[in-house]
Amino acid sequence: MSEERSSLNFLEHIIEEDLKTGYTKDQLRFRFPPEPNGYLHIGHASSICLNFGLGLKYGAPVNLRFDDTNPAKEEQEYVDAIKRDVEWLGFTWDTERYASDYFQQLYDWAVLLIQEGKAYVDSQSSEDMAAQKGSPTEAGVPSPFRDRSVEENLALFQGMKEGKFAEGTHVLRAKIDMSAPNMLMRDPIMYRILHKAHHRTNTDWCIYPMYDWAHGESDYVEQVTHSLCTLEFLPHRELYDWFLDQIHDTKKIRPKQREFARRNLSHTVVSKRKLLQLVESAVVTGWDDPRMPTISGLRRRGYTPESIRNFAETIGIAKRENLIDVSLLEFHVRDHLNKIAPRVMGVLDPLKLVITNYAEEEEWLEAENNPEDAAAGSRKVPFSKELYIEKADFREEANRKFFRLKLGGEVRLKNGYIIKAESCTKDTEGNITEVQCTYDPKSKSGSGTDESLRKVKGTLHWVSIKHALEAEIRLYDRLFTDESPDTHKDKDFMDFVNPDSLKVITGYVEPSLKNAKVQDRVQFQRLGYFCVDPDSTSEKLVFNRTVGLRDTWAKISEKS
Ligand code: ATP
Ligand code: MG
Repeated sequence: MSEERSSLNFLEHIIEEDLKTGYTKDQLRFRFPPEPNGYLHIGHASSICLNFGLGLKYGAPVNLRFDDTNPAKEEQEYVDAIKRDVEWLGFTWDTERYASDYFQQLYDWAVLLIQEGKAYVDSQSSEDMAAQKGSPTEAGVPSPFRDRSVEENLALFQGMKEGKFAEGTHVLRAKIDMSAPNMLMRDPIMYRILHKAHHRTNTDWCIYPMYDWAHGESDYVEQVTHSLCTLEFLPHRELYDWFLDQIHDTKKIRPKQREFARRNLSHTVVSKRKLLQLVESAVVTGWDDPRMPTISGLRRRGYTPESIRNFAETIGIAKRENLIDVSLLEFHVRDHLNKIAPRVMGVLDPLKLVITNYAEEEEWLEAENNPEDAAAGSRKVPFSKELYIEKADFREEANRKFFRLKLGGEVRLKNGYIIKAESCTKDTEGNITEVQCTYDPKSKSGSGTDESLRKVKGTLHWVSIKHALEAEIRLYDRLFTDESPDTHKDKDFMDFVNPDSLKVITGYVEPSLKNAKVQDRVQFQRLGYFCVDPDSTSEKLVFNRTVGLRDTWAKISEKS
């Protein structure tokens, strides 16, 4: 993976300290704990790289644990997608675990708590319970059911489990302290009744543990040493510890929760709930739409696992939340694709160019596949009398700074010859429809003649019209027009959806791409990096633009 950093981050400091004072290295164990209620996004990538990165650094196992305690929102599809994405990012988990594996154990521990007078069944409505919670400065009011006898609690809890009660009629609460300064300690709910089938346990259970009760105890079962989560769980740590206190056997490892800042990316949202909203409202075509900040969307867009890992490594971890500009992510994919992507030629906005003195039928020119990678070799590209160039690469007249083609001026055709524009044809509206040129037969690239070595300022990409393949090209822009769409008090993030985030055009690409496979990534010279989309068929290639060659957004925002 990437080179080792010289300084330790604050979590590594905590681990190093624990290695000095308690644990041995072979006791260390981590986990990545997604809830299977959506697809993983770029924020999760940070957490994955953190946990699996620590695993690699310390030679410690990392579990993939599905936090599947809410059957209303969780599905097998999400479990499968999460596994695929973690693997694709390049990580290997030690064991695949599920909080639902521990439902029986959690139930048994809950019974223990009831027997010890530390949990009780509350039979009030959720509104009544909320009204009794108090405020941070005001103690809560004990539930009238708080002092139920152990026998009654055991009988009711068993009844809950056996499906005797309707949803919302009873909950199991921990009996902690209704005047605790930390509101989460005011008799938190441990179980609620949900008559819903679970994607793994089916209808075995109709009571489901709450996150706080399930998470720490799952860490304990798995003997995770460091349970790393995002900052919003900081106030939950006291409860995490309280629950562990009730069951901890001192011969066993006691997991430790530590927190780091959530990572946010500009011009998008990183929350499965909000991403689901985009999918359900058909703003995007699915979780893997190339505009989505999901791992599967980035993959389809053409991102490489390396580029995402390098991004995560660069931003590192922090104690405070901040917004990371999406251009940093784009920098990393551009940087990696520059090293690995074969160069090809494609024209996206074609203008016909005729070489009037070219007498051959066709010829095949040698073209280097990747100047950054000598091992990438070369290929042949067909050249003929009629070519496409980009419209923007020709002007009738232009000043000296225009290094592309103008009437009377010369440019080199990439991998080919020097041409000179002689004349052009226009339609009735004055649009240029064709450019007529002459070429210099002695100027062929790589021929080593004086003429071929002669300097011309501009080099254009092109395709031979009769050999080119037509392709659908999908050009993407930011999904949101606002830098942080979900932070506005008076507006919903959906108000900022960019109506022009996708533009579909027809382009023409060189025939070497005929057998390109889904996910193949290439550089269209002078245009950017593109990736073959799964919608491609043997009749028609479909390309996604991963990223342009330069950061055009930085330039636009500098000007404005
Ligand atoms: P979401 O709101 O998108 O559902 P979540 O935190 O509820 O996020 P989980 O599936 O519970 O999603 O997250 C799994 C792990 O990934 C957790 O440890 C969580 O803290 C971490 N994580 C989630 N989002 C981010 C983020 N934006 N940056 C860093 N870590 C994150
Ligand atoms: Mg969650």
